[in-house]
Amino acid sequence: MRAVDIIIKKRDKQELSKTEIDEFIAGYTSGEIADYQAAAWAMAVLINGMTPRETTDLTLAMAHSGETLDLGKVVPIALDKHSTGGVGDKTTLVVEPIVAACGLPVGKMSGRGLGFSGGTLDKMEAIPGYRTDLTTEEFLSQLVEEGLVLTGQTADLAPADGKLYALRDVTGTVQSIPLIASSVMSKKIAAGTRAIVLDVKVGLGAFMQNLDEGRALARLMVDIAHLAGREAVALLSDMNQPLGHAVGNALEVHEAIETLHGKGPVDFREHCLQVASHMLVLGGKARSESYGLDLAQEALAEGTAWAKFKRLVSCQGGDVRFVEEPQRLPVAPFIRMVESPETGYLSCIDAREVGETALTLGAGRVRKGEPIDHAVGIEILNKVGDNVQAGQPLFVVHARDEGAFELARQRLLTAHHWSQELVDPLPHFYGTIR
Ligand code: URA
Repeated sequence: MRAVDIIIKKRDKQELSKTEIDEFIAGYTSGEIADYQAAAWAMAVLINGMTPRETTDLTLAMAHSGETLDLGKVVPIALDKHSTGGVGDKTTLVVEPIVAACGLPVGKMSGRGLGFSGGTLDKMEAIPGYRTDLTTEEFLSQLVEEGLVLTGQTADLAPADGKLYALRDVTGTVQSIPLIASSVMSKKIAAGTRAIVLDVKVGLGAFMQNLDEGRALARLMVDIAHLAGREAVALLSDMNQPLGHAVGNALEVHEAIETLHGKGPVDFREHCLQVASHMLVLGGKARSESYGLDLAQEALAEGTAWAKFKRLVSCQGGDVRFVEEPQRLPVAPFIRMVESPETGYLSCIDAREVGETALTLGAGRVRKGEPIDHAVGIEILNKVGDNVQAGQPLFVVHARDEGAFELARQRLLTAHHWSQELVDPLPHFYGTIR
């Protein structure tokens, strides 16, 4: 079948067969199908959706578009986590060292920033020398020897997702339940993950804007995991306001390091501990989530998670001096704090607007493959529900120059909303799907 016929079929709201999906993905992976056709197809999927059967076929076609790993041969249980993407989401940097410090091997292949949401690889690359391009052999040997790896998807692993992910980022086709579910699950299946905690973000700063969409995505991914013989649990977590304070690559690494030292923002620390506790249960280290929480807290308090993080950085070529003294990380030339223009309770800090502003400062990319600026970003100093007085520090902008700062200042002021009535803090989690 010609690629254009498959695009037309999806445009006309028809269900694609397994053969059509397999052919399309194989053609795109080999380069026979061009980026512009894949972009048109992705837009048709975004608008018209896919059935669970089509999504499962798409996931498997992408998972088998390159080599697949069998981690069961090298570690007793291959465990991982994956976030569907948010603003200020540096969870992996803290959770993976915690879980590894508790004795469970974690081999993670992460992604780059997608649209307004940040990416773990971009954050880790703020550490000079840190390599995110390990080969499969390097990935496996570090997993066995160190019990912790955090790298990019190798070119041979689910290459269809690698290509499609970068294309969707710049063609407005990220926000689609079947495309997100197949993207996440294809790489987990290809990477040989046996058990996975899915952190499904819901809210203004997430690809899923409401709880119903979040639940649907979570349910679909958990079902696909089971169909592929894997264990999965999905947490529905809030992403209406940024997670923690820092948004921007080096700033987020700095905040993750503080958290690994037992400090850091309360909401971010709480989030990391919850995700870690679910991983510890899934990996068989803890009988219950509350015991998992105790173990995770111990790993932070005793410094074992921090030691694991440092080891991770040095094993992957990063200069450890930059994490031991994070003030050495890239610093923006123009840093200004902005005071609150109002007195009242914060009723909303629009995470999407904060993420988009960080993108325009240069923390993310607008075109495929573009370089990013690791130094720039934003610190949001309050949380929804806080009582803020006029003149109190509201946010800090880390910009390249005064012009960029001024644009960011205006956008961030509109991202903050006030109420004169008491406002409840936002919940961290909305539920769990098993
Ligand atoms: N994370 C992924 O891996 N893929 C998506 O499409 C969105 C978030």
